[in-house]
Amino acid sequence: MAPAVTAALAPSGRLPGGALARASSSSRRRARSRLPPRPAYGVSRPDGTWVENPTNQFAQLINIAKGKRDVVQAGTPCLREIAEPIPPDQIDTAKIQELVQEMLQICRDRGVGLAAPQIGVPYRVFVMEDTEEGMSDVPAEDLAAQDRAPFAAKVIINPTVTPASAATALFWEGCLSVQGYRGLVRRFLAVRVEGLGADGAPVDFVAKGWQARIAQHEMDHLNGVLYVDRMDTRTFRRVDKLDEPLPGDHPELGPAPKIGPCAAGGGDVRARGADDVEGFIGKKKKAAAAGNKKKRRSR
Ligand code: ZN
Repeated sequence: MAPAVTAALAPSGRLPGGALARASSSSRRRARSRLPPRPAYGVSRPDGTWVENPTNQFAQLINIAKGKRDVVQAGTPCLREIAEPIPPDQIDTAKIQELVQEMLQICRDRGVGLAAPQIGVPYRVFVMEDTEEGMSDVPAEDLAAQDRAPFAAKVIINPTVTPASAATALFWEGCLSVQGYRGLVRRFLAVRVEGLGADGAPVDFVAKGWQARIAQHEMDHLNGVLYVDRMDTRTFRRVDKLDEPLPGDHPELGPAPKIGPCAAGGGDVRARGADDVEGFIGKKKKAAAAGNKKKRRSR
């Protein structure tokens, strides 16, 4: 971002002006010691939930000043590199706070998770959020199978993600950086997520179900790994082929009691949980896709 804009976005002083500004240094020190610390941009809860301070103006200013970056696509080198940790003493800088805000906005616009390398920034931070609206066109039985429920925006800086149980599940995954494709990926059903929030406070929680899948997918991005590295390669397909039959020995979708080779299974392909882990397919987009299909057929 242009330095001038960064300067304009820098947080104002921690103390209000006026009376305090005119007070003596000793009374100012006393007043300061009584004041609770005022976060410049927001507060991170232990589960990573990011509660923005109403005075955080990055959201509007990003749009006004420069717009949002594009999500880079597979083949872009930074998607295959190990991202760098963010020094904790830099978390409160405008540079990092602007990045976090931009990532949250892109995530809200386009899906349920985003890692910094996906917008070309090689830092170890990811965001995730799942809303009622985002899952409004997913059938209830799919939501139940995926153990998917809404959760507020989370920001995890310098994360570690470790299995919290041996149980796994196999579902379709997609990625904003591999647009237009899906593959079946086995993930742990519960993971422990540790790191720092967007205010530098410790984050430590257990993510379950679909949230656990998102966390594992985003964590992979920070290590230069894409879901295509983990998928059952024979299930890889374009998104408009999701309803086509899987190979006859395709693995069983859904939860599995423990890690193991993909179980053989037959049956219907119309797989439960045919939803993208990162980008969602909204109703409008589906309708548009259906329209395009008809157009193609009519030609
Ligand atoms: Zn992704």
